[in-house]
Amino acid sequence: MGQIRGFLKYKWQEVEHRPVEERIRDFSELDLPLTPDEIHQQAARCMDCGIPFCHGAGCPLNNSIPDINDLIYKGRWRQACQMLHSTDNFPEITGRVCPALCEAACTLSINDEPVLIKHIEYQIVERGFEEGWIKPLPAEHKTGKRVAIVGSGPAGLGCFSDRGLRYRAGQPPAGHFSRSDVGPGPLPPGPAVGCAGCASRSTGRIRPCPGPGYDG
Ligand code: SF4
Repeated sequence: MGQIRGFLKYKWQEVEHRPVEERIRDFSELDLPLTPDEIHQQAARCMDCGIPFCHGAGCPLNNSIPDINDLIYKGRWRQACQMLHSTDNFPEITGRVCPALCEAACTLSINDEPVLIKHIEYQIVERGFEEGWIKPLPAEHKTGKRVAIVGSGPAGLGCFSDRGLRYRAGQPPAGHFSRSDVGPGPLPPGPAVGCAGCASRSTGRIRPCPGPGYDG
């Protein structure tokens, strides 16, 4: 777990935002990230609950939140990044625009502020990109078979991302069809409209498609 009784020692820390007057002029990041020391303290607040409602009741992806918090508390960022990706195709999106049901479900929120789960996730994936831990995962061989994925919303993008796993296992490669002329990357019809951070990170993760009907 994080730090024993860390939740008594450290308080929830609000993530500050850029001034409104500044951010209405661009689509850049909204949050002003906490420092590594501050993130360490926030991860230390996790109680590693016997029944972690953050994981079971809060997170639709079933992210292993207590384990991830523990890894961050111990400074094991790379392993935390790997664990996050075991359940989440795009933490660069969920870490930014998810409504954080995990935090609403966190046991600490019964009589205190919850663990800062969403911002910890954001920091993990950002560090993963900066350190080069997250890379596109191209298929090693082609089977000659094809599968169509329609749409570039969350489900389509998840399939497009997972196709690499199936592909590498010898399953059919995929084609992707989007109403958008940019395909799975900047996501105009998807969940991250107007979020430049999501777009730039996700574009680096999966190969951008050059137009509708792209055959991957
Ligand atoms: S519910 Fe909150 S305190 Fe409990 S394990 Fe999850 S994040 Fe940690």
